Amino acid sequence: MTVLIDGKAFAKRLRDFISLQVADIKSSLGVVPGLATILVGEDPASEVYVRNKSKQTIETGMASFKHTLGSATSEAEVLKLIAQLNADDRVHGILVQLPLPRHINAEKVINAIEPAKDVDGFHVSNVGMLGTGQKAMLPCTPLGCIMMLRDHFGSLSGKNALVVGRSNIVGKPMAQLLLADDCTVTMAHRYTEDLEGHCRRADILVMAVGRPEMIPGDWIKPGATVIDVGINRVERDGTTKLVGDVDFKSASLVAGAITPVPGGVGPMTIACLLFNTLTAFCRAKSIPEPEEIGFSLAEGVGI
Ligand code: NAD
Repeated sequence: MTVLIDGKAFAKRLRDFISLQVADIKSSLGVVPGLATILVGEDPASEVYVRNKSKQTIETGMASFKHTLGSATSEAEVLKLIAQLNADDRVHGILVQLPLPRHINAEKVINAIEPAKDVDGFHVSNVGMLGTGQKAMLPCTPLGCIMMLRDHFGSLSGKNALVVGRSNIVGKPMAQLLLADDCTVTMAHRYTEDLEGHCRRADILVMAVGRPEMIPGDWIKPGATVIDVGINRVERDGTTKLVGDVDFKSASLVAGAITPVPGGVGPMTIACLLFNTLTAFCRAKSIPEPEEIGFSLAEGVGI
């Protein structure tokens, strides 16, 4: 029987854990972790993402500081705001919603964030620390994926993992996390030859491409675990539907476990942003962080 990896339920457990920790911190220290978001411009999808991030931050008892700037805001003004937030003791995490307008250099902006407050894990020093096995702030989407995989398998040691997609925000850090968990990792991308053959050998398949249902079920190794990061809008029977990079219907007949789209990786991404904000707070205050407290997604553990 194929296991459905329910990201929505996992994310709720993670948020409940965070809420309890935040309540504990508030009663013992009299302060709460704070997340600052910066949105530049009027991109409707970005507005929705930032609104959801801020809403969930408040729901877990943390402080949310929302900065909404017009599309004509200069790079210098964004950098000035980041410098202020870096120095602000109430702010433990800073998130710059991407993409930024074209006249602003995203790399420069991200690298201006204090690495300890870089809750998206995109700062070059966090990327370098992840790559060299040091304690880093981990990018939210791959962190959510590895949490679900650890929960499912316990140990990932020795598994053949295939990551399709090599972006800086998903594919590359995902491969690093799998490697750190002792998987044998293959990375595929748009120039990969024989993607089908690579898929057939993978015990763990992580799809992060953005092409609707590009992987059919008969490419998947029987019993494999499929983590579908892709979010694609398609028109079906006159309505807009969200589908992943994997053909869910045929894949779920072959896979041992699979994440749905929607309701798989997506909800875990925001929950991991809150997890990172709590982690940043704990590191700033030198108190045990969620990892050390023993947070696990397994029912009841660490809560
Ligand atoms: P991206 O466009 O930056 O990268 C896509 C990658 O796919 C590239 O590395 C490219 O080489 C590879 N690729 C393209 N065509 C390919 C092909 N035919 N075969 C193999 N590889 C191919 O995308 P991204 O930002 O990494 O996002 C990937 C997908 O994940 C998108 O659908 C995005 O919406 C989704 N996403 C979801 C979440 C979430 O929270 N669930 C978060 C981030 C991204």
